[in-house]
Amino acid sequence: MQQRAEGGQLVSINPADGVAVGSVLITTVEGIPRLVFQAREAQRGWGALTLAQRAEVLRPAAARLKSEAKRLGELASLEMGKPLAEAVGEATYCADGFAAELDEIVAALADVVREDARATSILRHAPFGVCAAITPWNFPILMLQQSVLPALVAGNTVLLKPSEETPLVAREYATILNEFLPPGVLTPVFGDGAQGRALVLADVNLIVFTGSRETGKRILADAGPGLKRVILELGGKDPLVVLDDADLDLAAAFAVRNSFRNAGQVCVSTERIYVDARIREEFLRKMLERTAALKQGDPREAGVNLGPMVSARQKAKVVAQIDAAVAAGATLVAGGEPREGNFVAPTILADVDHSMEIMREETFGPVACVQAFDSVDQAVRLANDTPFGLGAAVFGRNVARASEVAARIEAGMVGVNQGCGGVDGCPWVGAKESGVGFHSGPEGHRQFAQVRVITAPKQKA
Ligand code: ADP
Repeated sequence: MQQRAEGGQLVSINPADGVAVGSVLITTVEGIPRLVFQAREAQRGWGALTLAQRAEVLRPAAARLKSEAKRLGELASLEMGKPLAEAVGEATYCADGFAAELDEIVAALADVVREDARATSILRHAPFGVCAAITPWNFPILMLQQSVLPALVAGNTVLLKPSEETPLVAREYATILNEFLPPGVLTPVFGDGAQGRALVLADVNLIVFTGSRETGKRILADAGPGLKRVILELGGKDPLVVLDDADLDLAAAFAVRNSFRNAGQVCVSTERIYVDARIREEFLRKMLERTAALKQGDPREAGVNLGPMVSARQKAKVVAQIDAAVAAGATLVAGGEPREGNFVAPTILADVDHSMEIMREETFGPVACVQAFDSVDQAVRLANDTPFGLGAAVFGRNVARASEVAARIEAGMVGVNQGCGGVDGCPWVGAKESGVGFHSGPEGHRQFAQVRVITAPKQKA
């Protein structure tokens, strides 16, 4: 829910019922340079520890996160409206994966030795210094952990500015890590875009951001004059291509799940569906059946699959895109009617095309848009007709053929007969305007460190 700032307090409001969940003290913009200065002072000691020592400082936090997972999940669900079971699942996943993540980061950032006949070089992964982590509300625990852990283990100190939609769960998470970290190593900063921008403009060396493409562009511009390092994970307009030989039950189940999960507020939500014209009817029928079985309601109720949109602003944007598409000739197959409060019913639109905003701009809502194609070439052209390039999926029984189509899609991650996320150790990466740099997996972790090459001649024996 759009947050209210009252007397220096940021009030977090439950989007399902409009009731205040709690509040945090807003960090003043004027106070931010001082916090950055303190983080820089703290970085000297933190950066002087070895990689393994830093990981050991953090390691006991895993057990604390595990014992607090239910409370963290409940808070996330209350603040941003995702179903309680999914929010607790997110917190538990983070706690369970915490130790393995530390080990993966330590291994990724270990020295690399290269040598020839004359000299030996050591590639060292040194800290950048001070990192600003600006994290989103849609996975308020997972994205926070994925941004903050590699930054810290690499030896940076971190100023964490969580989304104004989910300050309470971020505060709790930071408090747990701070039971173990030295002072000044992880400092939460609360507020909205003003605080985010002040952090970017302050004396920081690395900016890690997950959020919208527009804000990403502003951050890149603000980081430019100082050539500050950035890792930007931005939005997507992910296509799903359903080929003529697809298993339609599998494809429809995926389409429904990946369009409506978290009320569509996922960066790799399916936002555009291209289906072979010959199977369009049957595919739509199967999607409709599954959509009708979804339960929307209060996220705390058992069995609810879809909660509200995070805010009135987000709902208004989604509803405006749906209405404009219908006015321009799209067919409403399911949903469409906005519910009470911040709810948007799971909506299926057919007969959409790229003249409609809903096929071009990120929707971030529970909407599945279906367009028919006549040839695979046309499907690929449509899938690539976007500045975004985060995830994509291709469904077809002939896996070799579907994989060939997948390879033609300009996206960072493409799934064949499944979602786009790679197996353990793969990065989370966007192509085109969906990202600059990337995170996760060994390649992602290395982006949180400055490579330094130290070369010395070999001693004569
Ligand atoms: P949303 O995903 O809600 O559309 P945005 O991309 O607008 O979010 O913002 C994501 C995060 O970036 C939030 O924490 C917000 O406060 C912060 N933010 C907004 N504007 C700026 C900016 N110009 N510089 C840095 N951070 C910003």
